[in-house]
Amino acid sequence: MSKPIECEKLCNENQKYKYEIVEMREKILQLEEQIKTNEKIIWKNCEHVWEYDTTTGQYERNRYYCKKCKLWRNFSMY
Ligand SMILES: [Zn+2]
Repeated sequence: MSKPIECEKLCNENQKYKYEIVEMREKILQLEEQIKTNEKIIWKNCEHVWEYDTTTGQYERNRYYCKKCKLWRNFSMY
């Protein structure tokens, strides 16, 4: 015996979750955009104190980060 009511309920539930996922993705994109905007401002205004990062791999190109603002010393990124 099938349970059509149960299926409909679950289907509705999934539909609701999908909307939630879409909303959260939009929120993530929004926040990432905001982070980029903030980083550009930080990059221009911070009096950077460069620190050599020993935890990154030997072949990483950007091994310096700022102790104050935590940005990597990579001009093209900002
Ligand atoms: Zn800095």
